[in-house]
Amino acid sequence: MIQRDIIAAIATAPGRGGIGIIRISGPSLAAFAAGLTPRRLRPRLAAFTPFLDATGNALDEGLALYFAAPHSYTGEDVLELQGHGGPLVMRQLLRRCVELGARLARPGEFTERAYLNGRMDLAQAEGVADLIEASTALAARAALHSLQGQFSQLIQQLSKKIISLRTLLEATLDFPDEEVEFLTAGQAQDRLTEIRQAVEATLSATRQGSLLREGIQAVLIGAPNVGKSSLLNRLAGDDVAIVTELPGTTRDALREQIDIDGLPVHIIDTAGLRETGDAVERIGISRTWAMIEKADLALLVADASGTDDAAERAIIDRLPPGLGRIRVMNKIDLVPRNSARESTDAEERVWVSAKTGEGLELLKRAIWDRAGWHPAGEGLFTARARHVAALQRAQQHLAAAASQTDRLELYAEELRLAHQALGSITGEFTPDDLLGEIFSTFCIGK
Ligand code: GDP
Repeated sequence: MIQRDIIAAIATAPGRGGIGIIRISGPSLAAFAAGLTPRRLRPRLAAFTPFLDATGNALDEGLALYFAAPHSYTGEDVLELQGHGGPLVMRQLLRRCVELGARLARPGEFTERAYLNGRMDLAQAEGVADLIEASTALAARAALHSLQGQFSQLIQQLSKKIISLRTLLEATLDFPDEEVEFLTAGQAQDRLTEIRQAVEATLSATRQGSLLREGIQAVLIGAPNVGKSSLLNRLAGDDVAIVTELPGTTRDALREQIDIDGLPVHIIDTAGLRETGDAVERIGISRTWAMIEKADLALLVADASGTDDAAERAIIDRLPPGLGRIRVMNKIDLVPRNSARESTDAEERVWVSAKTGEGLELLKRAIWDRAGWHPAGEGLFTARARHVAALQRAQQHLAAAASQTDRLELYAEELRLAHQALGSITGEFTPDDLLGEIFSTFCIGK
């Protein structure tokens, strides 16, 4: 284990609470603990104790929990002080820790140490952050699966298969005339096909995991008064936008996250996209276009009882060509007509009424399909865009290997690169700057 300094942080959320926790981790905390508590701490036993300042006066009292290395979260000695959860008390205790030689922990540094000390791999560490950030019950359950190593296990199984093929290949290359188990081109091809299928299945589950974690960005656009705000309210289930009869009331972009069968959908309701002399409204309009550039899906809302207007046609013509779109024909209660979902190659149309709620389920389903959301049920885990990218890289190298069966050196090299891409997911082969990026997004004290 690499020797490091002592780090400390307030691990509970800022503000007042019944209990506040200071977490400390370091190579050896015996001397450190003696400066805080008169009690002799025994591993894993809660001790009720005063927390002392430099002159031996109590700053607070509470429980001290000591975990001896390597049986702790970080793999080092860990001390947790459970004091009274007031901001001042917590700050004083933290200051006392610094006095005793600790330095303030960076965000995610406890988990980073857990990873560096081999207590968990990188995908599991990311699962910790995902669990803390989870906004839906399904996302939380999936993050827990990642944290417990389900995703890592899938990656390890793939790695093992590649290693076994690589070993056979190397033997074939190194001892072409010997009596080692020899790999024929046909055998190699069969095994490679099997590996590629396994990577494909993992990639598909990982895409779902990444969708579950990131959600999709859906921009709600359309002429003023067609019912965008009303639709958002319906989808969101509460009143987040101001709905009035005056065109142009929705001035700024509003974000609302809704949960469609577990899939987080970040809905961006936007200022009415129309020509205007109003400076504030113009800002809203340029923001809208910036968001549309980055969105995954556009919901084009139109009034089913009205006619296509020229301003709206101009908007649709300006949309990025690759952006998925669903045309929402709202206010069917006025026409009247039934709700429906119609698909053509070019476009999908859903007929709804934000007023009566008719057709809303069809609309949700259409969004679900466009997002590519097919949750696998129990096997679900959270994943990130970088995991999807790594699996895609692995898949490309495996495909390249498949086209090199008559040139075994190149074949072996492609396998090595595929193996390396998989290793970047669990942190087997991960550059330091990427580690810094990953852990910096964690909370302090985690
Ligand atoms: P936005 O400007 O596109 O955001 O439109 P709003 O959501 O503010 O709606 C404009 C007006 O249309 C309001 O008076 C709404 O109550 C009304 N409205 C919205 N959706 C429906 C609908 O499905 N049926 C009917 N009859 N009225 C609707």
